[in-house]
Amino acid sequence: MEYLSRRLEMLKEDRRFKFHPKCSKMKLTHLIFADDLLMFGKADMSSIISLNTCLQDFCQVSGLEANPTKCAVYLCGVEDNLKAQICTYLSFSEGTLPMRYLGLPLTTRRISHFECSSLINKITNQFQNWQQNRSLSYAGRIQMIKSVILGIQTFWFSNYILPTKILEKIDRLCSAFLWGQKIHLISWDSVCLNKKKEGLGLFSAKVWNQASAVKLLWMIHQKKDILWIKWIHGHYLKNSNVWQVQQRVNDSWMWKQLLKTRNMILEKYGNADEVLNILNSCSSNGKLRLSLVYNILTNSSAAINWSETTWGRLNYPKHSIIIWLAFHSRLLTQERLCRFRILSTNCCVLCSRQPENCKHLFFECQYSAEVWNNVMDWLGYTWRSCTWVQLSSWYSSCLKGKGFKKDLKRMALSVAVYFIWQERNVRIFQGIARTPDTLFRAIKVSIFTRILNDDFPAHIKEMIVNL
Ligand SMILES: [Zn+2]
Repeated sequence: MEYLSRRLEMLKEDRRFKFHPKCSKMKLTHLIFADDLLMFGKADMSSIISLNTCLQDFCQVSGLEANPTKCAVYLCGVEDNLKAQICTYLSFSEGTLPMRYLGLPLTTRRISHFECSSLINKITNQFQNWQQNRSLSYAGRIQMIKSVILGIQTFWFSNYILPTKILEKIDRLCSAFLWGQKIHLISWDSVCLNKKKEGLGLFSAKVWNQASAVKLLWMIHQKKDILWIKWIHGHYLKNSNVWQVQQRVNDSWMWKQLLKTRNMILEKYGNADEVLNILNSCSSNGKLRLSLVYNILTNSSAAINWSETTWGRLNYPKHSIIIWLAFHSRLLTQERLCRFRILSTNCCVLCSRQPENCKHLFFECQYSAEVWNNVMDWLGYTWRSCTWVQLSSWYSSCLKGKGFKKDLKRMALSVAVYFIWQERNVRIFQGIARTPDTLFRAIKVSIFTRILNDDFPAHIKEMIVNL
């Protein structure tokens, strides 16, 4: 292939060969990736003959031959008889745009919904395969969604700005997969916020695609040594820059979308200098970190004070999700089910005395209070409460920062919330009931398992065993 590249490079000196009008500035004759080859030239017979001669030379030297059924000629602004002449000479059929290259549609126009259908089908199939495994926890589903979005990013978002409807469809699919039921406990917009801002740290396809577009703008600004960026500077920017260039009627759809994103971010931050300051703060070693750009684009909501408690270093991920829902008061308690008219009566299954809601379960209920008091006794809390508002305020104001004991207390709360919620579900759906003491022992085992199996120093393991 290197021979072919060198042979095609020689066309630059060949007077019979004329470049494709969009390739003449960069003297671009071809692109080659693995065994895929794209050749560009003006649609006149002498240029076509020159290109074909290079290919034939390569065939003779290498013994390889082009397969006419896998090759096509793409022509634009050419009369029918010349088209026919070129196709006959090359023995290739005429192709129509958009063609697919490396699995992606190549087009200068808006990508149609049909062209995105392979992407949507792929996501739907992945989710359906995993949905058959009904035991997948929220934490497992979150990982799955992250990998799906990352997969799209690698293949589509780094190259395209997709139509809004497609992005919204992807977001709807992700949200439905996460909740796995008709009731979406928290809105997708909130789920896709940073963990410090009440979200789960997932990425919305819509905003992630915007962040990817901002990254492209930044790369153009940086004049990265990449072919497409050189091409953009030669054709669209000329002596202007990406922050000032005006949109023209004949610009491609993709370029217009990129300028739309530019206008959005300029409007948000006032001027190009400010935008660049912010983007520079998101970059390290010359690379822009997309997740930081994403956070900037979603920075509208204020930080919450319970993120440290929810996402404590020792917390099991599946426990973190339940306590996260408890902080949002969005667990599907009987009180909420009554509000949705799914249930008509509300009575706590743990104490059979009071109506069930988040505050009652954590830990005003007589049963839960006994469990939680045991946990606090065991870990030697100096300050104690069984009231959710007081507890959450104490955790966020008095238990700030690092330290093993603080992490352990954060973990204790998340384990207690998880096990009480699990006990409530087991009683309702399986009719099995454990005593407060049995539940407390299960909580202890869960904490021991985490600490003793991890890479903690011996004195910490000893400390926990001797509690
Ligand atoms: Zn109760």
